Amino acid sequence: MGKKERLGDYRSKRDFSHTPEPSGGGKKSKKQPIFVIQKHDASNLHYDLRINIDGVLVSWAVPKGPSTDPKGKRLAMRTEDHPLEYADFEGVIPKGHYGAGTVMVWDTGTYRNLTEKDGQEVPIARGLVEGHIAFWFEGRKLKGGYALTQTGKGKKWLLVKIKDKEADARRNPVSTQPNSVLSDRTLNEISKEKHE
Ligand code: MN
Repeated sequence: MGKKERLGDYRSKRDFSHTPEPSGGGKKSKKQPIFVIQKHDASNLHYDLRINIDGVLVSWAVPKGPSTDPKGKRLAMRTEDHPLEYADFEGVIPKGHYGAGTVMVWDTGTYRNLTEKDGQEVPIARGLVEGHIAFWFEGRKLKGGYALTQTGKGKKWLLVKIKDKEADARRNPVSTQPNSVLSDRTLNEISKEKHE
């Protein structure tokens, strides 16, 4: 599927004359293995994990946010692919529009594919189709291995911290590091931003 078709769902949900979100289609480098976690104060506060896979941000909504404890399984609901330009979007989606509420870049960085099967590396795009991917995050807040595994055939996946030197059951960055990594603002400060 081309990038344009992959963003069809994203674009059909939004009216770009009313939302400050990017429509995509820019010239951003497609290859950079970046990830972003956006804190999104919509009808329910949640964390959107997005990973660049073949030029689009493949996305999951994680209600509780990521855990640094390997025992902390987190529900992750797959959502529509987002354009790469979304990775540095921070702002307010107006009332009455899809995803209305404040968006913050809670963490971002690069990742390395760790997906394997029977000791062989599996390309991340194939892991995605087969329902299991793993990656090493080099974020500002999150570091180390994480795995995402689909449970059944629907949108439900589980996000789990892999046991490694970065695992830490006592750390809880979702509550101790609540601000934006781009602007150091709180959700409340971003929510007062004015859009022309
Ligand atoms: Mn969201």
